Amino acid sequence: MYQKEKEIAISAVLQASELCQKVRQDIPPALEKQDKSPVTVADFGSQAIICKALKDIFPDTPIVGEEDATELRQPEQKNTLIKITEYVKQIIDNASENQVLDWIDYGNGKVSRRFWTLDPIDGTKGFLRQDQYAIALALIEDGEVKLGVLGCPALNINQNEQGCIFVAVRGEGSYRMPLNGGEMTKLQVVSNDDVQRFRFVESVEASHGDQERQNAIAQAVGITSQSVRVDSQAKYGIVASGEAALYLRLPSPKYPDYRENIWDHAAGAIVVEEAGGKVTDMYGNPLDFFTATKMMENRGVVVSNSKIHEKVLEALNQ
Ligand code: AMP
Ligand code: MG
Repeated sequence: MYQKEKEIAISAVLQASELCQKVRQDIPPALEKQDKSPVTVADFGSQAIICKALKDIFPDTPIVGEEDATELRQPEQKNTLIKITEYVKQIIDNASENQVLDWIDYGNGKVSRRFWTLDPIDGTKGFLRQDQYAIALALIEDGEVKLGVLGCPALNINQNEQGCIFVAVRGEGSYRMPLNGGEMTKLQVVSNDDVQRFRFVESVEASHGDQERQNAIAQAVGITSQSVRVDSQAKYGIVASGEAALYLRLPSPKYPDYRENIWDHAAGAIVVEEAGGKVTDMYGNPLDFFTATKMMENRGVVVSNSKIHEKVLEALNQ
């Protein structure tokens, strides 16, 4: 199923991964802390490339992407637009500035019966820190994620891999392929008896969760080792690969009104589910991918190898 969608989504995410890697290689070693321009360039470039590829083949399927080009159309942003276009041209010959703007804005579609959702760079802080980031693309139909493609150019699960891409189709399993070519691996979440991998992942950014509570819950379900802190949906890829049993993302006490975006979870969620894992919010409810761009009714996210899921939810509700 979804053969054509899968093929186009993979090639688009690979192209966007290439652009992101190029931008990141060009980041000067002494980048000023406040200078977010590389991530801006890569974010817009990635969205432009993916939207172009999808709209050419699936003109009737809207794309709900994180970015829009409103500000980029202002004359003050001309230099940024020139830079973005230079990178896009390295992937798509002859791309013009106006095309780049239009492709980015093609990603402002609405949630509907069938749509794509896209985070062109998830984990922007990790991208700037030279840590983890992801290019996350998912196809949603009738409220269910049917296809997820997650590019993780900086994630090396095995030593000989340089970056990887995760691909999952509903009912057909979850796979990982190294970006530098080579074997495709079918993924399976970890069993509870694998002591070494019975650990948990959480965000690097303390303000994106509740690290104190996350650690307490992990301990309550028998995870004794320190958390592994990773940016972006790469965390989902790590759980799907059996390298961790749990990913906890509990509401930050600092931002009680924060609601999760669908593009921050859709691709990762199917990658974990198709590897045998489970994804719910902290009350055990399924994530709502069909109402809006924000999951208004969900709180927190619990991602597990499935076997410990109930125990985690019980610990959370005590
Ligand atoms: P991570 O790298 O896992 O921390 O996830 C990065 C994502 O966190 C970004 O795409 C943001 O959309 C999201 N984010 C921003 N603020 C918060 C918050 N207060 N709580 C949870 N997630 C957030
Ligand atoms: Mg994001």
